[in-house]
Amino acid sequence: MTTHVVLIGLDGLRIDDARAGQDAPVLQAFINHGAYAAMEMEVPTISGPGWSSILTGASHTEHGVFDNSFHGHRLLDYPDFLSLAWFADRSVTTWAATSWLPLADPAGPAPVIWWRDEAQRAGRHQVMVRDGETYGYDRMDGEVVAWSRMALGSAGPRASFIYLGMVDLAGHVYGGVSEEYRAAMRRTDERLGELLGAVDERVRAHPDEKWLIAVTTDHGHLDEGGHGGSDPVLTRSFLAAQWVTCEDDAIVRSAPALPPALSPTEVTPFLLDGLRS
Ligand SMILES: [Zn+2]
Repeated sequence: MTTHVVLIGLDGLRIDDARAGQDAPVLQAFINHGAYAAMEMEVPTISGPGWSSILTGASHTEHGVFDNSFHGHRLLDYPDFLSLAWFADRSVTTWAATSWLPLADPAGPAPVIWWRDEAQRAGRHQVMVRDGETYGYDRMDGEVVAWSRMALGSAGPRASFIYLGMVDLAGHVYGGVSEEYRAAMRRTDERLGELLGAVDERVRAHPDEKWLIAVTTDHGHLDEGGHGGSDPVLTRSFLAAQWVTCEDDAIVRSAPALPPALSPTEVTPFLLDGLRS
């Protein structure tokens, strides 16, 4: 059995609304067949610091990212979980896809996901970066999902991070209780379904593999839109996780061990533990 881990990041998702309403049926079903931990994000509840903590396992003070300028960051001392997995075992293949540039763009101020050119040249690391700010998150999330489905299905990377930004943009433009925000949740939930479907297909074709899928967000959104402060609707996050295997041609979903509450810095260790299991 080889183990594979995938972290799917849904930026700016009000998880309580996603769980309570009818706009995220795929996520709800995923939670029902897996494990769920509440997660409180550190302030400032901004994407740069939040994703840095989730993806590296370091606190804001440690990685030094406090806003989206990444000014003064220490990400060289705190590699992302894909890189950590590769450092531990150079045979590990990795995939990162994002519609928000700073997470993985080598020309940007960070990036949080290390570029690792040598690993890319050797075919062990693939990074797909799209610019949702310029070209629209709906369209760029669509590309992220299309390419990620292909990557998960054909290459079957051992560790992956896939980021979708459309929900956060809708929150900024229309507010966290708007119909547009809910529509973005529904669209993103469908896309989550497409990614989960790609893993199911992969596992069906490779029953010698077991896949750990995890879903999270970096912060919520105020009713009027926006984030950064300490309001519970902003700090409230989650980690949902599920093992997917195939037995006798049937997909089997099971819950990994998760405590009821988790710190954002515990996501990376959780994923690395999963990869080693
Ligand atoms: Zn964000």
